[in-house]
Amino acid sequence: MEIIIAENSGFCFGVKRSVDLAEKALESKKNKYTLGPLIHNPQLVADFEKKGLKVIDHEQALKIKDSLIVIRAHGEDKSFKDKLIANGNELYDATCPVLNSIYKKIETKEKEGYQVIIVGDKKHPEIIAMESFINNGIVISDETEAKNIKNYEKLYVVSQTTNRFEFFVNIANKLEENNDSVVIENTICNATKLRQESAKKLAASVDCMIVVGGFNSSNTNKLYQVASLYCKNVLRIETVKDLPLQKLSKFKK
Ligand code: SF4
Repeated sequence: MEIIIAENSGFCFGVKRSVDLAEKALESKKNKYTLGPLIHNPQLVADFEKKGLKVIDHEQALKIKDSLIVIRAHGEDKSFKDKLIANGNELYDATCPVLNSIYKKIETKEKEGYQVIIVGDKKHPEIIAMESFINNGIVISDETEAKNIKNYEKLYVVSQTTNRFEFFVNIANKLEENNDSVVIENTICNATKLRQESAKKLAASVDCMIVVGGFNSSNTNKLYQVASLYCKNVLRIETVKDLPLQKLSKFKK
């Protein structure tokens, strides 16, 4: 059997950066935590927990004082970070630079009088954090919601960084149909784009494709969706234990 690894795969620079900051946090003498799992990779999160970096949720975080808290690459609600600092905590902020740049763009456009539209999953931490940087953002997740956005004079449209490009373009087109001036900013992250393109290219040329990543990862899920459009046999696994070896033996590539 021939095994090919996608040209672009593995951790993106934002995730690498957050893992590096978490490693640095381990050197601190303070109690140390990450607010939510550092990345959507349960094996890596478990490894950090063993080394002393405990995962806490928002409720627990509010009770913690004088400790070190790592903010993950997805970013965090702006006012929530302020509360943690007010409790004497030190933050290692691993918010991805790609997201910091989106926050700046939407803040500026809102000040210029645009209605900001964020195309993404309302419950995803990345989107919750993004919304906290503006006063009146609207998050939409599908075509129906896009069709209900009508008659705005100035719209500024951004995307969750992990969206499929075609999905975002389709929603943006719907918004253009019913509104006057629509500025579309494709904020799909380049690392995501490259991985999706590689997945597409590879999926079209193999008998079976295996997507490796956290079952709870939006990025992994989108790669699975992209691969499924071009290959009939796509498997999604988290660790080697999930590999159905017998089933795989019939494939050549
Ligand atoms: S925005 Fe892009 S580079 Fe940053 S963490 Fe997300 S996928 Fe990685």
